[in-house]
Parts: sequence; structure tokens; C-alpha cells
Amino acid sequence: MSLQKKISALCSSVQDIGRDYAPAALASSFSVEDMVLTDIITKHARKVEIFTLDTGRLPEATYTLMQQVRDQYGDVVQIFAPDCGSLAEFVATYGPNGFYKSVEQRKQCCQVRKLAPLKRALSNKSAWLTGLRREQAVTRADMQHKEWDELHAMPKFNPLLDWTEQDVWDYIKEFDVPYNTLHNEGYPSIGCAPCTRAISKGEDIRAGRWWWENPETKECGLHVKS
Ligand code: SF4
Repeated sequence: MSLQKKISALCSSVQDIGRDYAPAALASSFSVEDMVLTDIITKHARKVEIFTLDTGRLPEATYTLMQQVRDQYGDVVQIFAPDCGSLAEFVATYGPNGFYKSVEQRKQCCQVRKLAPLKRALSNKSAWLTGLRREQAVTRADMQHKEWDELHAMPKFNPLLDWTEQDVWDYIKEFDVPYNTLHNEGYPSIGCAPCTRAISKGEDIRAGRWWWENPETKECGLHVKS
């Protein structure tokens, strides 16, 4: 399918979600896929809202992009931060970088900094959207365009699921969409600064995320089926 046809199908799909599942929102991490969806939503599907989870540990380049999006598209992204009390308790118990010590502590950090804020962000929504693509990780191989999110009791849509990495970059270039400059420095997948590193040529595109863990455990919990 040509890129134009894929774009047109994507616009229709996102518009349909905005119409049929309002209030629906995109959870954006300012990934290059989320930037495609942000561009589509702001131009063609304004009924769909956008939010992000500011973990407090994002790379400087992500905050730069966050500001750039605000300057270019307006105040379209609602920001959710961790609860101060829970965060202070986590850091007091495990230390600021306790997530390196074990998968359990890493998941607890993701719980405080991402999952709890996500729950708050979705508390008044009827559906949510992601920029996940099937080819990104072994943990995403069996994802569907529309899934039932048991945890949040609502549908979750993955409208970019079958887009290739090339499709995404072709869109970014064609429509001059801003993107995270870390992508130019060997970071195909970008999360929190201490948990993301650049990868070498030939490595799996998710190899730079939680690189000290096994591929099967490398999800923050945002996109794991209940
Ligand atoms: S990615 Fe790392 S720093 Fe970010 S919330 Fe998860 S464990 Fe914490």
C-alpha cells in the first residue's frame, strides 16, 4: 500500500475513534510514531485529545521537543506528572537509581512515574490510542489494532500497528514534523534518560531500552496485557 493510502486510512481511523469513542486520547511519549499521530490529530482529528507522562527523568532532548510541539501546534498536549508523595517514598526507599538493582524495583519505578499517572490520565476517558508498531519488539508481535484494556476498562487502539519504520520517517519528512533529535544519535526508541541508551548498527531497535534486562521483560507495563 502506498504511503498516501496509508495516511488516508490512518486519518479515517483516528477520526472514527474520535467520533465513536469520545473522549479518547493519544498517550504520547513524543516518539517519532507519536509525532505522526500528533500531526494527524491536530490537523484532521481534533476530537482526539493528547496527553503525555512526564516521569521527571526524561532526556533533555525530549523536553526540547515538548516545547517545540507546544510552540508549533499550541497547548495540545496535557502533561501528567508522578504523585509527589509516592515519588518521594519510592526514592527514599530505593534511592534515585534503584531501578538498576532488580526488575521488580525497575517496575516499581515505572509504576510510580508512569503507570499511576497513566491511570489518572485515563480516568475520564472512554478509549486511548498509542503509536505502537508491531515490528518494534517481540512483546508487540501479537498486538491488534483494537484491543480491550482490562486494567483501565476501555478500548485501546494502535492505529500505526502495521506501519513500517520507513513509513513513519517518510511521513515525518514529507510533512516536516518535529522529532526528537536523539533519533539522529542512534536512539530508535526513547524513554527515560537513565533507562535508554544508543544502539549499534544491527541491534534490535528496542535493545537500548532497559538494556540490562531480557527482551521478554522489557515493557514498562503501559502496554502489557492484563
Ligand atoms: S523508565 Fe526507568 S526512570 Fe523511567 S520510570 Fe521506568 S525505571 Fe523509572
